[in-house]
Amino acid sequence: MAIIELLNINKEYRSDDISTLALSDINLRIAKGEFVAIMGTSGSGKTTLLNIIGCMDSPSFGTYLFAGNDVGGLRENELSKYRGKRISFVFQHFALIDDYSVLENVKIPLLKHQLSDRKNNEKAMAALKMIGIEKLAFKRPDHLSGGQKQRVAIARAIACGAEVILADEPTGALDSRTSREIMKIFRELNEKGITIVVITHDKEIAAYAKRLINIQDGRIIKDEKI
Ligand code: ADP
Ligand code: MG
Repeated sequence: MAIIELLNINKEYRSDDISTLALSDINLRIAKGEFVAIMGTSGSGKTTLLNIIGCMDSPSFGTYLFAGNDVGGLRENELSKYRGKRISFVFQHFALIDDYSVLENVKIPLLKHQLSDRKNNEKAMAALKMIGIEKLAFKRPDHLSGGQKQRVAIARAIACGAEVILADEPTGALDSRTSREIMKIFRELNEKGITIVVITHDKEIAAYAKRLINIQDGRIIKDEKI
């Protein structure tokens, strides 16, 4: 069964008299356990697509089924059952809070589960161990390298047991060697059964995925196994 199913999705942005059709007639099924790369020029609609998949934004038209559930008309509090729980994001610039320790950053998405602080610490430490950075737990993000920061962000993404990780240009701020290390982590997580969707500009980075989708002017123009 598809974990992500987009049916005739359109997204229009309106501001005053200007309207932009960011996504046009998107039909996309992603099965559980897939590893997908999305490529396309700047402004082609990649981030808009990822934000809709991640329930951060809603389409103007069309149906979105997540694990068979229509998430279209859901209210904010219902959407948050998916966002940050079943679906997690990783961003180009990491989105870590410098005033918090690494451990506290990784605990953030766990807070809404209303578990004990001890349980949250255990889960966050387990996520850091899985990525191999438990030694960084009590450091602050601004004392880390870019590659270490992205590892922390990935630990945060998996801490709550997310089934889907959505990464918007996760290697865009990293050198090529570090980028390859980050993609290897995504590959290992995918081998554990996590569904991964990565946006990238870089063909070499996209080659870590098993399926490549090209998007142009808000439309899928190519979708192939790689
Ligand atoms: P990409 O991630 O591929 O660079 P985006 O999804 O960010 O593309 O943007 C797709 C199109 O939608 C672009 O033309 C962009 O200018 C427009 N767009 C994106 N977000 C907004 C917004 N919040 N308001 C208005 N237009 C937007
Ligand atoms: Mg973008």
